[in-house]
Amino acid sequence: MSKNSFADLYPSAWKGTADRSAVMAFAKDYREFVSRCKTERETAAETVRAAREAGFRDLDELCAAGAALKAGDKVYVMRQNKAAAFFVIGERPLTDGLRLICSHADAPRLDLRPNPLYEKDGMALMKTHYYGGIKKYQWTAVPLALHGVAVKKGGERVSVVIGEDANDPVLYISDLPAHLAADQYKKKLADGIAGEELNLIVGSIPLDGDKAEGVKAAILGLLKEKYCIDEKDFASAEFEIVPAGGARDAGLDASLIASYAHDDRICVYPAFRSLLETERPAFTSGVLFVDKEEVGSQGNSGMNSHLMENIVSRLVRLSGGDLFDRDAALENSVLLSADVCVGYDPNFPSAFEPNNTARLGSGPVLMKYAGARGKSGANDASAELMAFVRDIFDEAGVSWQIGGMGRIDLGGGGTIAPFAAKYGMQVLDCGVALLSMHAPCELASKADIYETYRGYKAFLNSAAEMKKYLG
Ligand code: MN
Ligand code: MN
Repeated sequence: MSKNSFADLYPSAWKGTADRSAVMAFAKDYREFVSRCKTERETAAETVRAAREAGFRDLDELCAAGAALKAGDKVYVMRQNKAAAFFVIGERPLTDGLRLICSHADAPRLDLRPNPLYEKDGMALMKTHYYGGIKKYQWTAVPLALHGVAVKKGGERVSVVIGEDANDPVLYISDLPAHLAADQYKKKLADGIAGEELNLIVGSIPLDGDKAEGVKAAILGLLKEKYCIDEKDFASAEFEIVPAGGARDAGLDASLIASYAHDDRICVYPAFRSLLETERPAFTSGVLFVDKEEVGSQGNSGMNSHLMENIVSRLVRLSGGDLFDRDAALENSVLLSADVCVGYDPNFPSAFEPNNTARLGSGPVLMKYAGARGKSGANDASAELMAFVRDIFDEAGVSWQIGGMGRIDLGGGGTIAPFAAKYGMQVLDCGVALLSMHAPCELASKADIYETYRGYKAFLNSAAEMKKYLG
């Protein structure tokens, strides 16, 4: 680029950051969080645990007790063990609307199929089905871990994590050796590895004797002994296969973090921390972590369900309001759809339009619209809302930038934004820019994580009136 107009408008946050030690300290906390919470269930459980410790109370229990909510009260809701929401009640009535930040806690991965285990040519393997938009070839020949839960007959739950401890074995999907890949090289990249080739190698020791399928039998014996899991228990289980190991600092200057599933924990964590540090906001503040975004937000733990209005109904009821008040609360709300956005990658410049693509290090991205082709599927936030959020960020001294989903007609993507907007609320996509989005290991800037946290906190605590901008 010649005279770089983007960098002039949206300079690197590192230049304006007075307190780099605060950036590094926040990034360390995030690195530990993203290393520990690798699935939607783990994210929901950990955020609820931390919220309870911080004095948040179960909204369902308060509802059952007929309690009343007042300013400063802190409540949480857990749904399906996969979605969670947290609120700090504000000074203003709920009918004036809430300040909400919503992220998704699911991430692209491989799921074990309901009857996964089989033996072939002396090895035990497990069938997977990929979840979300992955490049299938990226999941071969790397160490993988298994996280999940089996619910046995009668409801007993067995939680399993294998492959994270240094002493654990990992799982592995093989690829052809480079020496024998002449035919594979001729395929299109998208066809290099097929979905039915994403089979985990899980064992190779046969039982003593000459029993048929002795390796599979040995693995079944091991599953029974170590985890009390029978073969049929896979039918009522959710086992997710994710890259093994934790997040790492990246770059010689350690300015970046390389991790699995930054998308979307890199928005979950700053949103959650902001709410934990919110005491008596003007408007009721809330953060919601939902599931299933990577497959279209369907299902009862996804944003395209009645999850949000059901939860807000409870808040309104405990504040003495009715369903009309609930609708007003939803309509008058402002929601940041906290999701990641593509960052400009100097290694692949032709994929981006440089003047409208976020840079790693220039702060949270206000993404007016996502979608694909002619903005198809986009929420497309209003100019009024862009101005509202821009003013809050500027007033708090937050470095922010604009961004989009890359060069037109090359691809695109969606977020939960359209599902929130159906309530009539104001919705803007605002999150962290990534390189290698949806790869088993994604890259993000520590300055962006910290500035996003500062931006979210300013938003949740702002007393600014959206009405003023709507005219
Ligand atoms: Mn996302
Ligand atoms: Mn995604």
